[in-house]
Amino acid sequence: MAREPIHIGGITVEAGSRGFGFLHVGYLAGRTEVRIPFQVVHGAYDGPTLGLESTLHGWEPMGAEVIRRGMLGVDPKQLHGTVLCLPIANPFSIEFSGQVESAGSRVNPADQLDMNRVWPGKAKNAWLTEQMAYVMWNEIITKCDYLLDFHDGTGSCDEIPVAFPHAFDLNGPGVMQVSGADGTGGGGGRAVTRDYAEGMNKKIRDLAIAFGSSVIWWREETLNPVMISSQGNLNGIATLVVECGGMGIVDETIDQGAVCIHNIMKSLNMLAGAPQLPERQIMVSHYVVYRSLCGGFYLGEPGTRLGVEVRKGQLLGRVVDPITSEVVEECVSPVNGVIVSRRVRLPINPGGYIAHIADTDSILWERSTPALAAGQGG
Ligand SMILES: [Zn+2]
Repeated sequence: MAREPIHIGGITVEAGSRGFGFLHVGYLAGRTEVRIPFQVVHGAYDGPTLGLESTLHGWEPMGAEVIRRGMLGVDPKQLHGTVLCLPIANPFSIEFSGQVESAGSRVNPADQLDMNRVWPGKAKNAWLTEQMAYVMWNEIITKCDYLLDFHDGTGSCDEIPVAFPHAFDLNGPGVMQVSGADGTGGGGGRAVTRDYAEGMNKKIRDLAIAFGSSVIWWREETLNPVMISSQGNLNGIATLVVECGGMGIVDETIDQGAVCIHNIMKSLNMLAGAPQLPERQIMVSHYVVYRSLCGGFYLGEPGTRLGVEVRKGQLLGRVVDPITSEVVEECVSPVNGVIVSRRVRLPINPGGYIAHIADTDSILWERSTPALAAGQGG
């Protein structure tokens, strides 16, 4: 018997086909429509529903390209289940904030809110970003069994695919309730049972390993319920934060990310075939997001490439005075680790991203491919 069609955002998508549409949210002061684009790939066969969401932060748009490429490689006539894509969840943050050649902004320029601090959104007494989140949450995200939340290295850094499973802390308070003076947050936090937390931790651990990134950062700590990953995991939607690419450029990391989407779909039996895994995968409990204290021009050391191992104390790069050549900051790795993300952009203000380093003295789990199979992946 044929699968039922799916109805979302005013469109109908038949089983075995794909569709594109917009979620309508409202209008700005000048009557510019606020709408959020989506793609539906509705498989011919029954199976789970996977959500792929990106660009909550407009300065991190590369997940949208990873999703686009990943979905081009999926034939809905062969697909088991459904993929619901929100590649550009925060459109104004990629379209505006700066000049025509801007890198986008982290926040929504219409209300200056961070879209990863407003979940599951609001429909009353709500800022625009909260209203947008509410529409996405109710129209698309709550229909998903699994969700990937894509971020990237921002306009300053590139980044190999990496998974950030944010697990329930089985020994802590579990969920932190937050509420801002501006009325954001404060909703959606709730207690879960230990059984539920353990079950969800296992699901997101399996999802992170299946993604097939060479690095996984496992965190078990109090959840902030206004983040989309926390809200998903509180509501039975196994949600994994992932990062991939950066600088607004297409390099090899983008196709690697598309392969990782297919790996997830294969692990969920949505696609046939074996996953393409890197030669080595590690899961660490400690991961450094290294940022500068000084401003100037940043000159990376030639050896600071994506995926290489560095030693504690090894020089990663220098911030120099662009006029006098004075070295104002030497950036050295605080740990023995693997470079997951590194700065490419020259000008840097204090607080700018230098690198992500996965601490290899904190490995919780690892897998290596035997030499025979080493040629398949990447
Ligand atoms: Zn982000």
